[in-house]
Amino acid sequence: MTPQVTLLGTTFAARVTGIDLRRVPDERSHAWIEETLARYGVLSFGPQHIGDPQQEALIKLFGPPFKANFKEIATGHPHFYDITTVDEDGAPIVTDSPRGLTLLANAQWHTDGSQLQPPTRVSALHARVLPPVPPPTEYADMRAAWDALPPRKQHEAEKLSVVHSIAWSREQIGFTDISAESLLLRPPVMHPLVRTNPLTGRKSLYLASHASHPMNWPVHEGRAYIRELVAHATQPEFVYSHAWSTNELVMWDDRWTMHRATPYDAPHPRMLRWCGAVELEPV
Ligand code: MN
Repeated sequence: MTPQVTLLGTTFAARVTGIDLRRVPDERSHAWIEETLARYGVLSFGPQHIGDPQQEALIKLFGPPFKANFKEIATGHPHFYDITTVDEDGAPIVTDSPRGLTLLANAQWHTDGSQLQPPTRVSALHARVLPPVPPPTEYADMRAAWDALPPRKQHEAEKLSVVHSIAWSREQIGFTDISAESLLLRPPVMHPLVRTNPLTGRKSLYLASHASHPMNWPVHEGRAYIRELVAHATQPEFVYSHAWSTNELVMWDDRWTMHRATPYDAPHPRMLRWCGAVELEPV
């Protein structure tokens, strides 16, 4: 069966039907997914009755799996994180805990793994348990945001490298109590502010909650500059809001999209499983 694609947002995001992820995609399907992802940035494959091995096999087609080394939210599997409101025993995750903090952090506009070098390239999220009314996930098209910048701003942005740091993204949600040991394990990294997709040649902004300031700029001035760009890039016309269904698998390109979780404090459990593929080279 030939896969079918339906545009979900106005400029990006699509639903794919006709791919069964219980079988690891063959080379031809892999090439097709690469091309479709390059064009749409966010792909929903609909409900997929898969477990960890199939999700991991899919992500490995796109690069080396992200190593989930954040032990406070580890799942016991080295390549997965759980985005969950309950722990293994079904007890609610409290806000003032590493996992609660992660839920708060996910509500900031971000792209996965930009605090690392090499960063994450592609993410796959599988909705294992959803509440009756699942909160949507919002995605932003950073190509459309780039296209809409005045030429003067584009010219300035293209010359800049940006400092990304987990300490900064956590500080923004009021968490300043990061141990010196943790900070040593996660030093700041630098990425270009503007990236070009190798398959489409389209440019995009590369921003995230971890993005602090352009290198060699005064920190406060640089943070104000980044804040303004994030506000520009997440205007409603660049945003697609995704409504989840149970067992749905959504994959996205972390190089030219951002995303954020929307608030959820209902009593029903919610659990999504994440894994990602990282870039082969530093960016
Ligand atoms: Mn994320």
